[in-house]
Amino acid sequence: MAKVFLKPRRARPFWYGHPWVFSGAVDRVRGQVRDGDVVELHDFEGNLIGRGFYNSRSQIRVRSFLAAGEGEFAPEVLIRRLDRAVDLRLKTLGLPGRTNAFRLVHGEGDGIPGLVADLLGDELVVQVSCLGISPWVKTLVDHVRSRVPLRAAIERRSQLAEEEGLSRPEGVLFGEPASGPLEVGEDGVAYFCDPRDGQKTGFYSDQRDNRIALAPLASGLRVLDAFCYVGGFGLRMAKAGAASVHFLDSSGSALEFARLGAVRNGVEDRTTFERGNVLRQLDHYAREGRRFDLVVLDPPKFVHKRAALERGLRLYTEVNEKALAVLEDGGILATCSCSQHVADDLFDGMAGEAAYRAGVRLQEIYRGGQSADHPVMVPLAESRYLKCRAYRVDRIRP
Ligand code: SAH
Repeated sequence: MAKVFLKPRRARPFWYGHPWVFSGAVDRVRGQVRDGDVVELHDFEGNLIGRGFYNSRSQIRVRSFLAAGEGEFAPEVLIRRLDRAVDLRLKTLGLPGRTNAFRLVHGEGDGIPGLVADLLGDELVVQVSCLGISPWVKTLVDHVRSRVPLRAAIERRSQLAEEEGLSRPEGVLFGEPASGPLEVGEDGVAYFCDPRDGQKTGFYSDQRDNRIALAPLASGLRVLDAFCYVGGFGLRMAKAGAASVHFLDSSGSALEFARLGAVRNGVEDRTTFERGNVLRQLDHYAREGRRFDLVVLDPPKFVHKRAALERGLRLYTEVNEKALAVLEDGGILATCSCSQHVADDLFDGMAGEAAYRAGVRLQEIYRGGQSADHPVMVPLAESRYLKCRAYRVDRIRP
């Protein structure tokens, strides 16, 4: 087995279990290695730290997932990790009693590098973003099947596929996926989604806890659900007694699903739907004098890599400032970021700047992250990617 040696003084995070060894930390590679192979990871002095998948094409040269004490790699290790992942959702978190849309496997967060598997009803949606895990996908999906009743599994392309040199086709892994919209239920609210054609894996279960926590705040209020997708926040808020919910998104099919959801949840009389660009529409509402009591902002990932951080932060600031401009005094801004590079303090700073520019004070009344079926692996700060805050707005100038 080939050995990867780290540069001097670069080993500490990996002793503590950080799984990503970037190319800049690698000193030398000894022995024959092909991309996707398991390699040994050593510190500069030659002490064995652990084992992981190697990929010379990826920025992440080694994805370490075995500590030295766990021995050689064998497929049973992955099966054991998968069982732990399933147990977390089924037993520890008891999710099946509350929802049939949740993440069964969250990659590194479950010690299975580069494998994401979301359950949507009785369909499994898989995304692969690690070359080394690719040969094991079929075994792992078969094992999920032995634990959870499934009608079908499909694979969607990961954003990282190209960078990893992965050529896995999108499509059906087994079974017959539903044709047309798939209905899922989350704590008493019905949603429609499309695992084959929708964004990412079709449904954002990472926002579940935030949706549930924030919905009661909307009772009696006029809500704008901006970047609504299939209506995650807005449908729950409508059901929780919002006076009205206006759904805004640039995707026509997402809005169609949100509309279906409104009918299914019996809230169509209090819901309206608009296709458009959020930044442009917020300006338009401001000019028209249209106001809301609660605005949800859940934009797509604005920062894909660290180099784009500054530009992305400006965009977050801009959209938050615009949202504040259409909120009534005393209203609520619920605002999110799913960019891993936007750490908590940066997000808080961004909100402060948006408030200053909009001429308001913000009181934080809620602070949340990703739901527990998207677990954070402790030394991997980057895996804490989702931020969700709610602020009450106090207007300084009219
Ligand atoms: N809040 C949702 C998830 C939002 S995902 C939930 O809980 O399910 C982000 C959404 O933003 C996607 O639906 C995408 O279509 C939409 N989007 C991206 N850029 C946009 C823009 N400039 N204007 C409007 N919608 C946009």
